Amino acid sequence: MSLNIDEAILKNVVEDVLRKLGDKVSPETTSAPKPAAAIPARKSSPDYGVFDCANEAAAASVEGQKALRKLGFEGRKKVIDIVKTTCADKAEEWGRLELNETKIGRLDHKIAKLVGIPNLPGVEWLTPRGMSGDHGITLEENTPFGVVAAITPVTHSIPTAACNIISMVAAGNGVVFNAHPGGAACAAEAVRTFNKLIESELGIHNLITIVEHPTIDSFNALCASEHVNLLCVTGGPGVVNAAMKSGKRAICAGPGNPPVVVDTTADLDKAARDIIFGGAFDNNLLCIGEKQVFVLDAVYDQFLQAFKRAGAAQLNSTQLDTLTKQVFTFKEDGGGCSHPVLERELVGADATTLADRAGTKVPAGTEMLFAETDASHLFVQEEQMMPMIPVVRVSNMDEAIEQAAISEHGYKHSSMIHSLNVVNMGAMARALDSTLFVKNGACVAGLGVGGEGYSSFSIATTTGEGITTPDTFTRRRRCVLVDNLQMY
Ligand code: NAD
Repeated sequence: MSLNIDEAILKNVVEDVLRKLGDKVSPETTSAPKPAAAIPARKSSPDYGVFDCANEAAAASVEGQKALRKLGFEGRKKVIDIVKTTCADKAEEWGRLELNETKIGRLDHKIAKLVGIPNLPGVEWLTPRGMSGDHGITLEENTPFGVVAAITPVTHSIPTAACNIISMVAAGNGVVFNAHPGGAACAAEAVRTFNKLIESELGIHNLITIVEHPTIDSFNALCASEHVNLLCVTGGPGVVNAAMKSGKRAICAGPGNPPVVVDTTADLDKAARDIIFGGAFDNNLLCIGEKQVFVLDAVYDQFLQAFKRAGAAQLNSTQLDTLTKQVFTFKEDGGGCSHPVLERELVGADATTLADRAGTKVPAGTEMLFAETDASHLFVQEEQMMPMIPVVRVSNMDEAIEQAAISEHGYKHSSMIHSLNVVNMGAMARALDSTLFVKNGACVAGLGVGGEGYSSFSIATTTGEGITTPDTFTRRRRCVLVDNLQMY
């Protein structure tokens, strides 16, 4: 049979398209459509939100978010209840799971972090703003972005995921996670568990998704994905810089190096106990945790005695040197300079292990080590995340604040002061301008533990949103009705 010209062109076009599709389309598909079963099944609800492919995980979360929208605020509340209840119920099991995988921190504190998850704010946090006047009524309300890609740290893998879900879903969003590879399996297990319950109670699939084997490539894929509307990064400088350069809007909960100042008016025993409580929490893995202490000369020796009474064990200068050489190595940057690199194996190690590495023994159960250093010491300047606190003698308050500010590196993250002098408090508040500033308490008072307020494991320091809440993950939308609606 001969073809007329139109048929020939059409045949060429079809052949060209098929060539471009390559081996994605088999020759038989040109004649008859295959049944749907021939399309490879996507890893979707059967693995409850755990995906191989970042873009597929994000796309699935888009569908999950659409389903959530249909269920309104009641649906959001139910998801939040599921996450809060499950974290409390599984605190011990998941605390163990996370410790076994990450091998950093302390079991009791991993459990405590999960037990605290129910205290986070939910949908009640979203407050619309109304205006009424001669020209009608206006309502400003909070609406979701869509899907948020959340990057979580190894220091609190499940707690950060849980707290992100609560805030992001309260705001009406779906979530896709790229966890730290060192804590990805436990985060995936939590996502699976949440999704099973969400699916059975609400019938929503893949509201929360996660990349099973996260990499920098999967992070880049999420940054580039059309299905992702917003990034939320919780981590150190590398990932914060990468997110800020991605071209997507990013909420960045970045690194810190929180200093503590102790002045002459402080209750020294309480200051010592607070510094140990906050600085030894989960072996100093908290980004808000006390990392270095500046003590005024007039009370310096008394403070060291108080620190020992409270249970901290002192390293001498030889032991400090031995430990410092193991904690920090130096890496050439290629331009003739070198910079310190933290030995990751010792991050979150306990005080006994650090003492062993320093060449000494401390009593079992010792929570914190300390050593006298100068202000330029690596333990002061680097965010070391270990329960070994350097203590620096300063001659007056001006020097204390100046050195505290230098050691904080302008992160504007967290700082603490122990003082009864409001002038000193004000001066430090202005100089450091940190997102959390705790007076006369442990750092955790800034997250509602021993202080007023609520908690979150993502404190948006770099981009300035502060302690993240449902509000943080909403767009502000104005709805205006122009009319003569005067009621008066
Ligand atoms: P990290 O920066 O090594 O990793 C954080 C996340 O970013 C992980 O998911 C990791 O896989 C990813 N990542 C790292 N570098 C990347 C890059 N170049 N491109 C793409 N992704 C990258 O941090 P960590 O050790 O997991 O956590 C500790 C750090 O996080 C500390 O600096 C701490 O202060 C900070 N932190 C901040 C907050 C906060 O609320 N501000 C909370 C917890 C931890």
